[in-house]
Amino acid sequence: MTLINDHYQKLQAGYLFPEIGRRVSAFQQENPDAAVIKLGIGDVTLPLAPAITEALHAAVDETGEAAYGYGPENGYPFLKEAIAQHDYASRGVEIALDEIFVSDGSKQDSGNVQEIFDIGSTLCVTDPSYPVYVDTNVMAGRTGGASASGHYEGIVYLPATEANAFMPGPPEERVDLAYLCSPNNPTGAVATRENLSQWVEWARRNEATILFDAAYDAFIQDASLPHSIFEIEGAAECAIEMRSFSKRAGFTGTRCAYMAIPKTVMGRSASGEAVSLNTLWSRRHSTKFNEVPYIIQKAAAAVFSPEGAAQTGEQVAYYMENARRIRQGLGDAGFAVFGGEHAPYIWMRTPGDLSSWDFFDQLLQRSHVVGTPGSGFGPAGEGFFRISAFNSHENVDEAIERISKGFGS
Ligand SMILES: *Cc1c(COP(=O)(O)O)cnc(C)c1O
Repeated sequence: MTLINDHYQKLQAGYLFPEIGRRVSAFQQENPDAAVIKLGIGDVTLPLAPAITEALHAAVDETGEAAYGYGPENGYPFLKEAIAQHDYASRGVEIALDEIFVSDGSKQDSGNVQEIFDIGSTLCVTDPSYPVYVDTNVMAGRTGGASASGHYEGIVYLPATEANAFMPGPPEERVDLAYLCSPNNPTGAVATRENLSQWVEWARRNEATILFDAAYDAFIQDASLPHSIFEIEGAAECAIEMRSFSKRAGFTGTRCAYMAIPKTVMGRSASGEAVSLNTLWSRRHSTKFNEVPYIIQKAAAAVFSPEGAAQTGEQVAYYMENARRIRQGLGDAGFAVFGGEHAPYIWMRTPGDLSSWDFFDQLLQRSHVVGTPGSGFGPAGEGFFRISAFNSHENVDEAIERISKGFGS
């Protein structure tokens, strides 16, 4: 038999969401009449906005009139221009078209980006974090095994706690790569300008690279908070940014995202010469990826049209109204709740010192509500629970009522 990539054997049992799915179907089989409300997985619940489906229809017709074969390697200029203008220039950030790489998802980008760095690179993550950052480095062989507490050897974990407003600062020690996500999944916390400045200063002093995931930037409610790490002086020398149309415009099933890599972000070769990460990623992307379909890039560009921006803005506002209700409702019921002000996630402490998974089971049994155990996002998530705002107002209200009845003080 052929030898496998043994690093996969180090991954901790089961990806979080399949395990949740398994427990929910088992419950539903035993309780066929229970109306389960799902506030678990981070997926949108509203349909694509009309401006987007109109753009899709029009693009489909175009593909019946002329050949749209392989698109330009890093994305169509019409989409990259809209991105550069609306996501960057509008906030005073200059990003050139050849610094934008359109892709089919930030999950892919945040998992693939580690490939352009040395296998011996050290890394840090905020804990808890989006599982892709850790798991893809484990698969690549950049870590040892996991300890009983769930920490992989070779990764520096920075606990997100109430004391640091769930937005930890940089580590004491030097590491090569730092994964940051703001607004944060799962904690719902948001980085301030001061938080990001501290990270950028640390990265420049240590010649480290920040991998910044801004999948939820559209959920930021306060205009003074940074949407992009490139709003911070010096970030164009030390950061890569990932953005996605998934949460901001309901593209989780439609698939479009991008990575922004200023040409000024450098790495170092073994012989000590500076190499542009933009050039490296361009090489990787064009070798392993054949662009997002024309019709999907047209749909993504429609997110920036006046109608598209207004309609997707209303969808974000709808989810944020859910977040407000959850924060308020569970807070009134006596739970300790965090986040949810600039992100579609509420991070709550489990009641009575229950473990994250014990609370998951009790919540399902007593309230017929599904959430996500905090421990699934990292060791420091133990004792916490993530409630997602992606659902209808009606279901959210019903869920809050049931949780308050089942557990409230
Ligand atoms: C949902 C999400 C993404 C986006 O993934 P896509 O592949 O673009 O759908 C990226 N990062 C985080 C933290 C997310 O929660």
